[in-house]
Amino acid sequence: MREPNRNSVIRAINECAGDVESFINRYASGRNPKAHYLRHEGKLYPLKAIWAAAHNPSIHTRNFKTDVAIRGLSNLGFEVISDDKINNIQEMHNYDDKLDELLSANFIEGERILREVMLFKRNRELVRRAINKHGTTCVVCGFNFGDAYGDLGVDYIEVHHISPLCESDGIDFNNNVDDVTVLCANCHRMIHHKRPALTLEELRNALTSSYRRRRRVL
Ligand SMILES: [Zn+2]
Ligand SMILES: [Zn+2]
Repeated sequence: MREPNRNSVIRAINECAGDVESFINRYASGRNPKAHYLRHEGKLYPLKAIWAAAHNPSIHTRNFKTDVAIRGLSNLGFEVISDDKINNIQEMHNYDDKLDELLSANFIEGERILREVMLFKRNRELVRRAINKHGTTCVVCGFNFGDAYGDLGVDYIEVHHISPLCESDGIDFNNNVDDVTVLCANCHRMIHHKRPALTLEELRNALTSSYRRRRRVL
């Protein structure tokens, strides 16, 4: 039996592209991938079935473990995608759209936070007062950068203005320290994930109870 090489993997990809369903029937007894895909020229393919088909003669997905295929395909220079949220062939083909969506959401949130950063840049005194008042532990989830990253994270925290309007450019805000708070990077992203931004209360309520237990907050 010959181990797969780049050419035999490309041949398997082409066979799969011709008819995904019969490909999966043939090499994986019809079982769709659970979490692992091969990404080639912008499309996703079932990783294990591709690895099985690329052998000469071909083998079946039940003959090897997933990590063998992950290692083998990575070593041949192919891109492996692990995402357990993709769960059918249709979604496999829509994966690029999902990536686009994700990228544009990232961009928009980044933009909103950047506007706020510019506001605080013009008003360093407000930042100083906010940190004096709240410290450097996230007021929503209790995360502390110093606890997590040691020296690297000591004194790091993000400052957030609770007026949703401060996402708009060019508006100057009151210097009231009561309107400013401190958040970790994750909570800060999530609070701006909706527009207008969530309130602190809404974000606290959004934390799942299992997460709260794990982090011992509230
Ligand atoms: Zn947080
Ligand atoms: Zn903010």
